[in-house]
This record gives sequence, structure tokens and C-alpha cells, in this order.
Amino acid sequence: MQLEEDHLGPHLNGKHLRPESLMMSYGYNPEWSEMAVKAPIYQTSTFVFKNAEEGKAFFELAYGLRDKGAEEQMGLIYSRLNNPDLEILENRLRFWDGAEDAAVFASGMAAISTMLLALLKPGDVILHSEPIYGGSDYYIKNILPKFGIQSIGFRANMEADEVAELLEQSGVADKLAMIYIETPANPTNHLVDIEACAALAKKHSTDDKKVIVAVDNTFLGPLFSHPLKHGADLLVYSATKYIGGHSDLIAGACLGSAAIMKQVKAMRTFMGSMASPWTGWMLMRSLETLKIRMEAMARGAETVAEYLKNHPKVERIYYLGDLQDNPQQQAIYEKQCLSAGSMISFDIKGGEREAFKFLNSLRLIKLAVSLGGTESLAEHPASMTHSDISPADRAVMGIGEGMVRISVGVEHPEDIINDIEQALEKVQVSVSSYA
Ligand SMILES: *Cc1c(COP(=O)(O)O)cnc(C)c1O
Repeated sequence: MQLEEDHLGPHLNGKHLRPESLMMSYGYNPEWSEMAVKAPIYQTSTFVFKNAEEGKAFFELAYGLRDKGAEEQMGLIYSRLNNPDLEILENRLRFWDGAEDAAVFASGMAAISTMLLALLKPGDVILHSEPIYGGSDYYIKNILPKFGIQSIGFRANMEADEVAELLEQSGVADKLAMIYIETPANPTNHLVDIEACAALAKKHSTDDKKVIVAVDNTFLGPLFSHPLKHGADLLVYSATKYIGGHSDLIAGACLGSAAIMKQVKAMRTFMGSMASPWTGWMLMRSLETLKIRMEAMARGAETVAEYLKNHPKVERIYYLGDLQDNPQQQAIYEKQCLSAGSMISFDIKGGEREAFKFLNSLRLIKLAVSLGGTESLAEHPASMTHSDISPADRAVMGIGEGMVRISVGVEHPEDIINDIEQALEKVQVSVSSYA
């Protein structure tokens, strides 16, 4: 019954199966659970050893006291170290990005903070794009310095040679240990060139130090962007967003080579930042519909963006399907994105007053932060998700007072547009704003 498998994954009749065909049952054997077609929730803290010798052997592997035998499987010990729901989920999740290994966490921030602590040490420098998710920004700027780790930020849409120049001029380029990027950037959808970051990392790597390129792939992945194929070493996700996809759980993930993931998983064991069996089970359920959800949301967003773009009360839209006026960004899009996704930001003519009137008038779309769920959500970055960035920095990043961010869900696009239309009608744009 089990599919044959090689290093590229399971195959059937000599053809490798696509990720969406593997999400329902890969890595689970019904014989483990009364022939249940679905993996149950292994809601347990600990696992029984057949005998003391087995317990000893499992611990030797878990603590790296000896190498794994050719046919030997890592045994189950305790749910902070491993649990079947997490292991099955991790084995499925890695197919979308073509990663060797994956680790699932209690939140996106748990994944990001654990990964950073696993791979950085005092004296290191981390170069990162801006803007990035508020929690990551805070962690890099306020928590990492306590451990002697310094950061340098660069604007997401800066040219690659300007970024290299910025690093050179910092005087600490020799301490570079990681380039951390978020592409597309939230909420402006600015793209960062992954290949250029990989080249910069390579240039600063030495025989005994490899500079790691880590990408927060939450916004387009794991369907529409595969950074590992463009030279990135590591991916992080807020699985709360598209991977979970129903706005009903908090989780995170980290993916990369077996060697890097070994370090990340070891740190996860000691931080205790893994996801629970229940969250793992929920995420397995979500993965079955990941592709059809993300595709439907991207199709809906295309229709919604077209409507917004032509609306007289909309100053400008920020959408990956609308980059014609920006050849630099369009070139990156063509290189590393497979779809424009379903995040749209736009500037309403006017400022906060007009944006708030619009948000308060929505009837179908919910006024909430977060994204990637089946229902459409709208928010005001300047006063909500990005309010802890100074107004001056926000201006540099292009986050204006009239900006609204929408995560397009799976509702009928015409119903979403209907709601946007009636809410925009309520907005009074003063004559001067039209000038
Ligand atoms: C939400 C988000 C995070 C943080 O994830 P949590 O699951 O909320 O901890 C990190 N990065 C991006 C891009 C996000 O949108």
C-alpha cells in the first residue's frame, strides 16, 4: 500500500506525485490506529518504551550521543521532542517548498525566535529587509541586542548594489551571519530579490562561516514562492495565516536542509516552542485544501484589485499583479513569484479619517488584523499592525495614513466588491484631496 519513495519523494508508475496529492495520507499508516483513514490526535505527553534498552537507544539518538543506524527510525519519547501529529505534518509540509526537513512551532514568532537563537551568536550581525512583521522587527531590534547580536535594516525595494554598499559602509560586514528577508513586504508588497541576497551572502561567507539567507515566506508561500529554489537556506512561516487558513489557530513553521534543521529542532526542544498535537492535527486538515484555497483567493484578489485600481476614491494600489510601472519590481516578480497572491493594499484619497470611514462601513469584510484565512479581512496598517514604527520611518517605507490592507478570502469576488463599493460610497473625499 505504501508508495515507493526516493530522495525527491513518493512516486507512482515512475512519476513523482505533486504535493497536493500527498496531503491526505502521506506518512501515516492506518495500521497504527485501528485502520482509521485519518491520523488521530495523539493527545499524549509521553510514550511507552517496549523495554529499557529501547528507551536507552531512543535517548542516544535524541541527544546525539551516537549516529543513527541505516535502517533505524527516531523513536517516540516525549511530546516536547516529537509526536506523531507533528512528525506526519512536518513530513508533508516540506513537499511544497522542496525542503529536506521541517519543524512546526506554537506560533510564527516561536519559529522565528527559536530559529534566530539557534543560528546566531554574540558578535554576529543580521542584515534584514524593512518593513518586516512587527513582532520580528521588535525581536531583532530589542531582544537580539541583549545577546550581543547587532542588526542592519535595508528598505525592501532598494537595489541590490545599494544593499551591498550599505553593508560595506557599516564597518561590520565581516561579522555578517544572516540575511533575513520578508518578501513580499507587508503591507507594501515590495519584493526583495532572493537570488541577489544569496549572492551577497555567498560573498561574505568563508570556509568556516556560511552566511545564511532566511526568508519569511508567509505571504506567498508555500504555493506561490519557493525561495529555497532561488538560493535561500531557510524558510519561516506564520502557519496561522495561509497554511492554517481558517483563522482558527496560531502556529509557525521552519524549513530547510537537514543540517540546519537539526540545529533548529535542537533549540526547539530546549525552548519548548513546538506546536501541540491538536494544532498539528488541525494543520494536517488544513494542508488538504491549501492549494485550492490559495488559488481561489488569488483569483478573487485579481478581480478585486482590478475594481480598486479604477475607483476614483483610490489613489494607488499595492498589488503584485499590478507592477507594470515598476520594471525593477516586475523583474523580481517574474523571477521568483508564481502568482500575485491575495494581499492587496491601497491608499484611499485623504488620510486616516477617510480610511477609518471606509473600514467602519464594511459589512461583509471583517475589520481585523491577520490574513490568509478563508474570510476577507481589512485593517489600517499605520494605526494597527505598523503603529509601533515611527511616522517618519513609516513615510520612508511607504505606509501612509490613508492606506488600507485587505486579505481577500474565498467569498464570491463580486460580493467582496459589492461591500467595498458601498463602503467607499460612504467616504467623503474633500475637494482638495482630488487636486
Ligand atoms: C503573522 C506573521 C508573523 C507572526 O506569526 P504568529 O503566528 O502571529 O506568531 C510573522 N511573519 C509574518 C509575515 C506574519 O504575517
